[in-house]
Amino acid sequence: MLKKFDFDPSTSFANFTTGGTEANHTAAIAALYRKFPRHSQVGLKNISEKPIFYVSEEAHHSFVKISQMMGLGAQSCRKIPTDLNLKMDIAALERIFFDDINRGLSPFMIVGTAGTTSSGSIDPLSELAKFCKQNQLWFHVDAAWGGAAIMSERAKIYLQGIESADSITCDAHKWFSVSMSAGMFFCKHREIVKETFRFQAPYLSCEGSGIDDQSNRTMQCSRRFIGLKLFMELSEKGEKKIGQSIDKSLELAEKLREKLLEKGWAIVSNTPLPVVCFTHQKIQSGQIDISSVLENILKRGNVWISTTTLNGDVEVLRACITSYKTELSDIDFLIDELELAIGG
Ligand SMILES: *Cc1c(COP(=O)(O)O)cnc(C)c1O
Repeated sequence: MLKKFDFDPSTSFANFTTGGTEANHTAAIAALYRKFPRHSQVGLKNISEKPIFYVSEEAHHSFVKISQMMGLGAQSCRKIPTDLNLKMDIAALERIFFDDINRGLSPFMIVGTAGTTSSGSIDPLSELAKFCKQNQLWFHVDAAWGGAAIMSERAKIYLQGIESADSITCDAHKWFSVSMSAGMFFCKHREIVKETFRFQAPYLSCEGSGIDDQSNRTMQCSRRFIGLKLFMELSEKGEKKIGQSIDKSLELAEKLREKLLEKGWAIVSNTPLPVVCFTHQKIQSGQIDISSVLENILKRGNVWISTTTLNGDVEVLRACITSYKTELSDIDFLIDELELAIGG
Protein backbone atom coordinates (compact mmCIF):
# COMPACT_ATOMS: atom_id res chain seq x y z
CA MET A 1 0.00 0.00 0.00
CA LEU A 2 2.88 2.41 0.70
CA LYS A 3 4.04 1.97 -2.88
CA LYS A 4 0.52 2.59 -4.17
CA PHE A 5 0.69 6.06 -2.63
CA ASP A 6 4.22 6.51 -3.99
CA PHE A 7 5.75 6.47 -0.50
CA ASP A 8 9.23 4.95 -0.23
CA PRO A 9 8.83 1.76 1.87
CA SER A 10 12.44 1.97 3.07
CA THR A 11 11.92 5.26 4.92
CA SER A 12 8.15 5.31 5.44
CA PHE A 13 5.91 3.87 8.09
CA ALA A 14 2.51 2.20 8.02
CA ASN A 15 0.26 0.60 10.60
CA PHE A 16 -3.27 -0.66 10.98
CA THR A 17 -5.53 1.37 13.24
CA THR A 18 -8.99 0.91 14.69
CA GLY A 19 -10.26 3.36 12.07
CA GLY A 20 -9.84 6.70 10.39
CA THR A 21 -10.18 8.59 13.64
CA GLU A 22 -7.17 6.87 15.19
CA ALA A 23 -5.16 7.33 11.97
CA ASN A 24 -6.00 11.06 11.90
CA HIS A 25 -5.12 11.32 15.57
CA THR A 26 -1.78 9.60 14.95
CA ALA A 27 -1.01 12.08 12.16
CA ALA A 28 -1.80 15.07 14.37
CA ILE A 29 0.39 13.80 17.21
CA ALA A 30 3.34 13.08 14.88
CA ALA A 31 2.95 16.48 13.19
CA LEU A 32 2.85 18.26 16.54
CA TYR A 33 5.90 16.33 17.69
CA ARG A 34 7.89 17.28 14.60
CA LYS A 35 7.20 21.00 15.05
CA PHE A 36 7.40 21.17 18.86
CA PRO A 37 9.37 18.15 20.08
CA ARG A 38 9.83 19.69 23.51
CA HIS A 39 6.11 19.67 24.25
CA SER A 40 6.08 15.89 24.51
CA GLN A 41 8.24 16.12 27.64
CA VAL A 42 7.21 19.40 29.25
CA GLY A 43 3.59 19.62 28.09
CA LEU A 44 1.81 22.16 25.92
CA LYS A 45 1.46 24.61 28.78
CA ASN A 46 5.22 24.90 29.08
CA ILE A 47 6.05 25.79 25.50
CA SER A 48 5.80 29.38 24.37
CA GLU A 49 4.13 28.60 21.03
CA LYS A 50 0.40 28.30 20.48
CA PRO A 51 -0.06 25.40 18.05
CA ILE A 52 -2.90 25.48 15.52
CA PHE A 53 -3.87 23.38 12.50
CA TYR A 54 -6.27 23.70 9.56
CA VAL A 55 -9.03 21.59 8.03
CA SER A 56 -11.84 22.54 5.67
CA GLU A 57 -15.36 23.21 6.91
CA GLU A 58 -16.40 19.95 5.23
CA ALA A 59 -13.66 17.89 6.97
CA HIS A 60 -14.52 14.97 9.23
CA HIS A 61 -15.60 15.88 12.77
CA SER A 62 -12.86 13.67 14.23
CA PHE A 63 -10.34 16.54 13.90
CA VAL A 64 -12.23 18.67 16.39
CA LYS A 65 -12.36 15.74 18.78
CA ILE A 66 -8.66 15.09 18.22
CA SER A 67 -7.81 18.72 18.93
CA GLN A 68 -9.72 18.42 22.20
CA MET A 69 -8.13 15.11 23.13
CA MET A 70 -4.65 16.50 22.48
CA GLY A 71 -5.25 19.36 24.87
CA LEU A 72 -5.11 21.90 22.04
CA GLY A 73 -8.79 22.71 22.40
CA ALA A 74 -11.43 22.70 19.68
CA GLN A 75 -10.48 26.24 18.67
CA SER A 76 -7.03 25.11 17.56
CA CYS A 77 -8.66 23.08 14.79
CA ARG A 78 -9.31 25.98 12.44
CA LYS A 79 -12.00 25.41 9.83
CA ILE A 80 -11.35 27.00 6.45
CA PRO A 81 -14.35 27.91 4.27
CA THR A 82 -14.95 25.95 1.09
CA ASP A 83 -15.65 27.08 -2.47
CA LEU A 84 -18.78 26.32 -4.50
CA ASN A 85 -17.56 22.77 -5.12
CA LEU A 86 -17.09 22.26 -1.35
CA LYS A 87 -13.27 22.14 -1.68
CA MET A 88 -11.04 24.06 0.70
CA ASP A 89 -10.75 27.66 -0.51
CA ILE A 90 -7.01 28.27 -0.89
CA ALA A 91 -7.34 32.07 -0.90
CA ALA A 92 -9.26 31.89 2.38
CA LEU A 93 -6.64 29.54 3.79
CA GLU A 94 -3.83 31.97 2.95
CA ARG A 95 -5.70 34.89 4.46
CA ILE A 96 -6.53 33.08 7.71
CA PHE A 97 -3.10 31.45 7.95
CA PHE A 98 -1.12 34.71 7.74
CA ASP A 99 -3.60 36.41 10.00
CA ASP A 100 -3.01 33.69 12.60
CA ILE A 101 0.76 34.08 12.30
CA ASN A 102 0.42 37.82 12.85
CA ARG A 103 -1.64 37.08 15.94
CA GLY A 104 1.22 34.99 17.33
CA LEU A 105 -0.16 31.51 16.63
CA SER A 106 2.05 28.64 15.41
CA PRO A 107 0.53 26.54 12.61
CA PHE A 108 1.90 23.01 12.38
CA MET A 109 -0.38 21.04 10.02
CA ILE A 110 -2.87 21.33 7.19
CA VAL A 111 -5.34 18.53 6.52
CA GLY A 112 -6.63 18.01 3.00
CA THR A 113 -9.64 15.73 2.67
CA ALA A 114 -9.72 13.39 -0.33
CA GLY A 115 -13.38 12.47 -0.37
CA THR A 116 -15.34 14.36 2.26
CA THR A 117 -17.84 12.27 4.17
CA SER A 118 -20.84 14.35 3.19
CA SER A 119 -20.29 15.04 -0.48
CA GLY A 120 -17.10 13.31 -1.63
CA SER A 121 -15.36 16.56 -2.52
CA ILE A 122 -11.59 16.45 -2.86
CA ASP A 123 -9.55 19.39 -1.59
CA PRO A 124 -6.90 20.81 -3.98
CA LEU A 125 -4.20 18.41 -2.79
CA SER A 126 -1.31 19.58 -4.99
CA GLU A 127 -1.83 23.22 -4.07
CA LEU A 128 -2.08 22.34 -0.39
CA ALA A 129 1.13 20.28 -0.64
CA LYS A 130 2.91 23.26 -2.16
CA PHE A 131 1.60 25.62 0.51
CA CYS A 132 2.72 23.24 3.26
CA LYS A 133 6.18 22.93 1.77
CA GLN A 134 6.58 26.69 1.49
CA ASN A 135 5.49 27.19 5.08
CA GLN A 136 7.12 24.15 6.69
CA LEU A 137 3.86 22.52 7.67
CA TRP A 138 2.92 18.87 7.93
CA PHE A 139 0.53 17.88 5.14
CA HIS A 140 -1.94 15.19 6.15
CA VAL A 141 -4.48 13.79 3.70
CA ASP A 142 -7.63 12.29 5.18
CA ALA A 143 -8.61 9.79 2.50
CA ALA A 144 -10.52 7.59 4.93
CA TRP A 145 -12.94 6.37 2.32
CA GLY A 146 -11.77 8.06 -0.91
CA GLY A 147 -8.26 6.62 -0.60
CA ALA A 148 -9.32 3.27 -2.05
CA ALA A 149 -9.47 5.04 -5.44
CA ILE A 150 -5.70 4.52 -5.53
CA MET A 151 -6.42 0.86 -6.41
CA SER A 152 -8.00 1.84 -9.73
CA GLU A 153 -5.98 2.96 -12.76
CA ARG A 154 -8.90 5.09 -13.82
CA ALA A 155 -9.71 6.67 -10.46
CA LYS A 156 -6.30 7.25 -8.92
CA ILE A 157 -5.93 10.43 -10.96
CA TYR A 158 -8.56 12.02 -8.69
CA LEU A 159 -6.11 11.70 -5.80
CA GLN A 160 -3.30 13.53 -7.56
CA GLY A 161 -1.13 15.33 -5.02
CA ILE A 162 -1.64 12.69 -2.32
CA GLU A 163 1.88 11.43 -3.04
CA SER A 164 3.21 14.73 -1.63
CA ALA A 165 1.53 14.20 1.73
CA ASP A 166 3.53 13.63 4.91
CA SER A 167 0.86 11.22 6.07
CA ILE A 168 -2.36 9.60 4.85
CA THR A 169 -5.44 8.06 6.45
CA CYS A 170 -7.19 5.32 4.49
CA ASP A 171 -9.81 2.95 5.92
CA ALA A 172 -9.99 -0.62 4.66
CA HIS A 173 -13.44 -0.91 6.27
CA LYS A 174 -14.98 1.58 3.88
CA TRP A 175 -14.51 1.33 0.13
CA PHE A 176 -12.34 -1.81 0.35
CA SER A 177 -15.44 -3.63 1.68
CA VAL A 178 -13.46 -5.12 4.58
CA SER A 179 -15.52 -5.70 7.73
CA MET A 180 -15.28 -3.30 10.69
CA SER A 181 -12.94 -2.15 11.87
CA ALA A 182 -9.79 -1.71 9.84
CA GLY A 183 -8.09 1.66 9.41
CA MET A 184 -4.67 2.45 8.01
CA PHE A 185 -2.09 5.13 8.71
CA PHE A 186 0.75 5.87 6.28
CA CYS A 187 3.60 8.25 7.00
CA LYS A 188 6.70 9.30 5.07
CA HIS A 189 8.76 9.86 8.21
CA ARG A 190 9.38 6.60 9.99
CA GLU A 191 11.91 8.15 12.37
CA ILE A 192 9.51 10.86 13.51
CA VAL A 193 6.76 8.33 14.23
CA LYS A 194 9.25 6.23 16.21
CA GLU A 195 10.38 9.24 18.23
CA THR A 196 6.78 10.32 18.83
CA PHE A 197 5.57 7.06 20.33
CA ARG A 198 8.76 5.70 21.88
CA PHE A 199 8.43 4.50 25.46
CA GLN A 200 10.35 2.37 27.90
CA ALA A 201 8.77 -0.19 30.19
CA PRO A 202 10.73 -2.99 31.81
CA TYR A 203 7.87 -5.46 31.35
CA LEU A 204 7.57 -4.86 27.60
CA SER A 205 11.11 -4.59 26.38
CA CYS A 206 11.71 -5.98 22.94
CA GLU A 207 14.93 -4.00 22.59
CA GLY A 208 17.69 -5.99 21.00
CA SER A 209 15.42 -8.97 20.37
CA GLY A 210 14.99 -8.14 16.69
CA ILE A 211 11.22 -8.01 17.16
CA ASP A 212 9.45 -5.19 15.34
CA ASP A 213 7.64 -3.80 18.35
CA GLN A 214 4.51 -2.04 17.12
CA SER A 215 3.60 -0.76 20.58
CA ASN A 216 6.76 1.35 20.48
CA ARG A 217 5.62 3.29 17.44
CA THR A 218 1.83 3.46 17.65
CA MET A 219 -0.89 4.54 20.06
CA GLN A 220 -2.01 1.04 20.93
CA CYS A 221 -0.20 -1.44 23.13
CA SER A 222 -2.07 -4.74 22.95
CA ARG A 223 -3.61 -4.95 19.52
CA ARG A 224 -5.82 -7.09 17.31
CA PHE A 225 -4.67 -8.66 14.07
CA ILE A 226 -6.50 -6.01 12.06
CA GLY A 227 -4.38 -6.47 8.95
CA LEU A 228 -5.55 -10.05 8.46
CA LYS A 229 -8.86 -8.86 7.00
CA LEU A 230 -7.22 -6.75 4.33
CA PHE A 231 -4.63 -9.43 3.66
CA MET A 232 -7.42 -11.97 3.07
CA GLU A 233 -9.27 -9.58 0.80
CA LEU A 234 -6.11 -8.93 -1.21
CA SER A 235 -5.15 -12.57 -1.46
CA GLU A 236 -8.62 -13.67 -2.50
CA LYS A 237 -9.44 -10.94 -5.00
CA GLY A 238 -6.05 -9.51 -5.91
CA GLU A 239 -5.34 -5.87 -6.65
CA LYS A 240 -6.91 -5.98 -10.09
CA LYS A 241 -10.31 -7.18 -8.90
CA ILE A 242 -10.36 -4.61 -6.10
CA GLY A 243 -9.63 -1.94 -8.72
CA GLN A 244 -12.48 -3.27 -10.86
CA SER A 245 -14.84 -3.12 -7.92
CA ILE A 246 -13.83 0.54 -7.36
CA ASP A 247 -14.51 1.26 -11.04
CA LYS A 248 -17.90 -0.41 -10.75
CA SER A 249 -18.93 1.90 -7.88
CA LEU A 250 -17.87 4.90 -9.96
CA GLU A 251 -19.94 3.72 -12.92
CA LEU A 252 -22.98 3.02 -10.72
CA ALA A 253 -22.76 6.50 -9.20
CA GLU A 254 -22.62 7.94 -12.72
CA LYS A 255 -25.73 5.91 -13.62
CA LEU A 256 -27.49 7.10 -10.47
CA ARG A 257 -26.74 10.72 -11.38
CA GLU A 258 -28.04 10.19 -14.93
CA LYS A 259 -31.23 8.52 -13.76
CA LEU A 260 -31.92 11.14 -11.09
CA LEU A 261 -31.56 13.91 -13.65
CA GLU A 262 -33.82 12.06 -16.07
CA LYS A 263 -36.52 11.93 -13.42
CA GLY A 264 -36.20 15.62 -12.63
CA TRP A 265 -34.10 15.45 -9.47
CA ALA A 266 -31.25 17.94 -8.96
CA ILE A 267 -27.65 16.87 -8.22
CA VAL A 268 -26.09 19.25 -5.71
CA SER A 269 -22.60 17.81 -5.23
CA ASN A 270 -19.76 17.78 -7.69
CA THR A 271 -17.38 14.86 -7.31
CA PRO A 272 -16.14 11.98 -9.42
CA LEU A 273 -16.33 9.73 -6.33
CA PRO A 274 -19.39 7.52 -5.77
CA VAL A 275 -21.32 9.70 -3.36
CA VAL A 276 -24.31 11.54 -4.77
CA CYS A 277 -26.06 14.39 -2.97
CA PHE A 278 -29.36 15.39 -4.48
CA THR A 279 -32.65 17.12 -3.91
CA HIS A 280 -35.91 17.80 -5.73
CA GLN A 281 -37.73 20.90 -6.84
CA LYS A 282 -40.64 19.88 -4.60
CA ILE A 283 -38.27 19.90 -1.63
CA GLN A 284 -36.55 23.14 -2.65
CA SER A 285 -39.87 24.93 -3.06
CA GLY A 286 -41.08 23.76 0.34
CA GLN A 287 -43.89 21.67 -1.14
CA ILE A 288 -42.51 18.53 0.54
CA ASP A 289 -40.38 18.36 3.65
CA ILE A 290 -37.08 16.49 3.14
CA SER A 291 -37.46 14.68 6.46
CA SER A 292 -40.80 13.23 5.34
CA VAL A 293 -39.18 12.00 2.10
CA LEU A 294 -36.47 10.27 4.09
CA GLU A 295 -38.92 8.92 6.65
CA ASN A 296 -41.11 7.54 3.89
CA ILE A 297 -38.15 5.71 2.31
CA LEU A 298 -36.82 4.34 5.59
CA LYS A 299 -40.27 3.24 6.75
CA ARG A 300 -40.74 1.14 3.63
CA GLY A 301 -37.49 -0.55 4.64
CA ASN A 302 -36.30 -1.53 1.16
CA VAL A 303 -33.33 0.81 0.77
CA TRP A 304 -31.27 2.89 3.14
CA ILE A 305 -30.09 6.39 2.35
CA SER A 306 -29.43 9.40 4.55
CA THR A 307 -29.53 13.16 4.51
CA THR A 308 -26.62 15.50 5.07
CA THR A 309 -26.10 19.22 5.27
CA LEU A 310 -23.91 20.97 2.71
CA ASN A 311 -22.36 24.41 3.16
CA GLY A 312 -23.55 24.35 6.74
CA ASP A 313 -27.21 24.94 5.92
CA VAL A 314 -28.70 23.12 2.90
CA GLU A 315 -30.14 19.72 3.82
CA VAL A 316 -30.00 17.21 0.94
CA LEU A 317 -30.39 13.48 0.32
CA ARG A 318 -27.21 11.43 0.13
CA ALA A 319 -26.50 8.06 -1.47
CA CYS A 320 -23.04 6.51 -1.18
CA ILE A 321 -22.06 3.43 -3.18
CA THR A 322 -19.10 1.60 -1.72
CA SER A 323 -20.17 -2.03 -1.51
CA TYR A 324 -18.88 -4.47 -4.11
CA LYS A 325 -22.35 -6.07 -3.94
CA THR A 326 -24.24 -3.08 -5.32
CA GLU A 327 -25.62 -3.66 -8.83
CA LEU A 328 -27.46 -1.59 -11.43
CA SER A 329 -30.72 -3.20 -10.31
CA ASP A 330 -30.18 -1.66 -6.85
CA ILE A 331 -29.85 1.77 -8.46
CA ASP A 332 -33.10 1.26 -10.38
CA PHE A 333 -34.74 0.13 -7.19
CA LEU A 334 -33.55 3.23 -5.34
CA ILE A 335 -34.94 5.46 -8.09
CA ASP A 336 -38.35 3.75 -7.81
CA GLU A 337 -38.37 4.21 -4.04
CA LEU A 338 -37.43 7.88 -4.39
CA GLU A 339 -40.15 8.47 -6.95
CA LEU A 340 -42.71 6.89 -4.64
CA ALA A 341 -41.52 9.01 -1.72
CA ILE A 342 -41.70 12.24 -3.67
CA GLY A 343 -45.06 11.35 -5.19
CA GLY A 344 -43.70 11.46 -8.74
C1 LIG B 1 -15.26 7.74 8.03
C2 LIG B 1 -14.33 8.87 7.99
C3 LIG B 1 -13.42 9.12 9.05
C4 LIG B 1 -13.48 8.36 10.36
O1 LIG B 1 -13.19 7.07 10.23
P1 LIG B 1 -13.58 5.96 11.35
O2 LIG B 1 -13.00 4.74 10.73
O3 LIG B 1 -15.06 5.95 11.44
O4 LIG B 1 -12.92 6.36 12.60
C5 LIG B 1 -12.52 10.14 8.91
N1 LIG B 1 -12.47 10.89 7.80
C6 LIG B 1 -13.32 10.70 6.75
C7 LIG B 1 -13.21 11.56 5.55
C8 LIG B 1 -14.28 9.69 6.83
O5 LIG B 1 -15.13 9.50 5.79
